[in-house]
Amino acid sequence: MKIRDRIAEYCSSLGISMVGCAHVKRWESPLFEPWIPKQFYPHSIYPEAQTAIVIGLPIHLPSIETAPSIWYREEYKTVNALLDQYSWHLASFLNDLGYPSVSIPRDGYGDIKTLLVQPLAFFSHRHAAVLAGLGTFGRNNMVLTKKWGPRVRFGTVLTGAEMESDPLISSSLCTTCNACIRACPVFALSEDDYPESLTDKAACTNRSADLNKHFLSPCGICIKVCPVGEDRMLYDRTNIRMYEDKANYPGYHRGWDHVRSYGGLLEKPGGP
Ligand code: SF4
Ligand code: SF4
Repeated sequence: MKIRDRIAEYCSSLGISMVGCAHVKRWESPLFEPWIPKQFYPHSIYPEAQTAIVIGLPIHLPSIETAPSIWYREEYKTVNALLDQYSWHLASFLNDLGYPSVSIPRDGYGDIKTLLVQPLAFFSHRHAAVLAGLGTFGRNNMVLTKKWGPRVRFGTVLTGAEMESDPLISSSLCTTCNACIRACPVFALSEDDYPESLTDKAACTNRSADLNKHFLSPCGICIKVCPVGEDRMLYDRTNIRMYEDKANYPGYHRGWDHVRSYGGLLEKPGGP
């Protein structure tokens, strides 16, 4: 069996349904400008790397609809922990097959406060996901996927196994609806396409740092309102006006307000 098929089979046995591969050469052909600097390329970090394998796990829509909340915060942490574990297991699986491999930590920073000093991690899982054909950037600065829109988190394994890259998604999944821009409580986003769309990164980081003091980070508002993703059909949430329209969706708003009132230090964390 080919190594790519073995990876797919292994991931499937772990319940990971989103997997993509990108040869490291993909980093050398920028998809847009400004592109990430060379020191962030996988083979700059781990010179033996031939391929980046990217896995994705979803954040379930009804949980993030309560964001910012303890519910979303806890699921975010769970998904990060799973990604760290699954990517470590996948790297070990490949090592046992004779392909030297390493997993990259999910968040790659000590605390949100460190992002105020140095706003980047040493590796971008989001760029890796796009290069592995899993999604495209949206105006909310996130990777949008067909299955879960931006409600997905990614982990990466760098391996010495050489594999063909998966096809890139050729046209943007972002509908440019600007719902994320309208919903951002600190006006951090603009009506430009990524990477120009995040105009005030410090405002976004400061908001998350502030929510973190109250055990309610991350913010998540620009992720929950995004209309992209088949998860909206699964949960029957295709009308995103529901987040602003209390009069016609009173039951949903009561539930979200209830969740937001518990488990953190702010009674009303704010946001639609
Ligand atoms: S995470 Fe929150 S603060 Fe940051 S851009 Fe999105 S909505 Fe704005
Ligand atoms: S909310 Fe609209 S503009 Fe923002 S990322 Fe999603 S599709 Fe794009």
